[in-house]
Amino acid sequence: MPICRLISDENSHKPIRLPHQQTVVLGRGPETTIKDRKCSRQQVEFKAECNKGYVKVKQLGVNPTSIDSVVVGKDNEVKMKAGQQLHIVNQLYPYTVQFKEDPTGHYGGTKRPRQLSSEDRESLREDQSVKAAKKTETVSVSVSVGEATKSTVREGRKKESFGHWSQGLKTSMNDPKMQVYKDDKVVVIKDKYPKARYHWLVLPWQIISSLKALSEVHCDLVKHMQQVADQIVRQCPDAGLLRFRTGYHAIPSMSHVHLHVISQDFDSPCLKNKKHWNSFTTDYFMESHDVIQMLETNGRVDVKEGTSELLKLALRCHMCLKDIPTIPALKEHLKSHFPS
Ligand code: AMP
Ligand code: ZN
Repeated sequence: MPICRLISDENSHKPIRLPHQQTVVLGRGPETTIKDRKCSRQQVEFKAECNKGYVKVKQLGVNPTSIDSVVVGKDNEVKMKAGQQLHIVNQLYPYTVQFKEDPTGHYGGTKRPRQLSSEDRESLREDQSVKAAKKTETVSVSVSVGEATKSTVREGRKKESFGHWSQGLKTSMNDPKMQVYKDDKVVVIKDKYPKARYHWLVLPWQIISSLKALSEVHCDLVKHMQQVADQIVRQCPDAGLLRFRTGYHAIPSMSHVHLHVISQDFDSPCLKNKKHWNSFTTDYFMESHDVIQMLETNGRVDVKEGTSELLKLALRCHMCLKDIPTIPALKEHLKSHFPS
């Protein structure tokens, strides 16, 4: 049977073992190094089901614990699989779970699940929010995918030297086929799952995990990213026809700071759900100029509380502000603004 470990994505401490079917309660304290008073000493209860490849997560504290930005809710229990990200409290202190083959045994004959792709994860988030909206007492998320075993990770690494899918941008930015521009500070790649006719990502060569890690020392770099984004837009054959926006997702799913450069037609088969839509058309999308201003004035980027809730807003056309009931209807409606 595999063994399960809880990994701090910020590397705040060593992985914590979650023994099979045993209750482990974590929160503020030396084990997690969390000192934040908003985090209860008994914030989250974990119970690993090692043979099934998931961990039951129960929020015990008052302030929100979330999985993939979806709040668990006090006394609710959800299942968490490898590839999902847990924030212990208030969208802070990110963690993932890892299932590894027990060095003394083997996987126990169960079918090896494949690793979550970023598209899977986005769909998973959608599943979760729908279930959360139903406000059931116990929210249970069932998915057909699970954690990577040691050998699938090893196989994956042949193709993707950075391993886990959330590190995929670091692989893509080094792939000449994905690159459309590079200089000594940044590289521009095509988004692998474009949400519009034109969708690029500008990434610094310097590895910076997320917006939260940015400070005043990064001002020039972030301004350069913006200038490169403007240049890419100017070179686009449809620059005169389409409007573009450049900005960051307030709560990104992929590791390593990346500036989205995206045309506003949102005409793409990869745009599949409400979360995709709201992540680009609400304040979840933080304008690059605003991020630069925050860095210049405060020396850091602040993400407003409740930002993750924006992903659940009703669908609204960003052009005429009309409410649209469904994604297919929205796609149809967009054709009136952006004929092909
Ligand atoms: P976010 O982290 O929410 O700002 O968005 C990450 C973006 O990266 C999404 O637009 C994805 O379509 C895109 N993406 C995911 N995986 C890859 C990859 N391996 N290479 C390039 N783009 C990717
Ligand atoms: Zn409209």
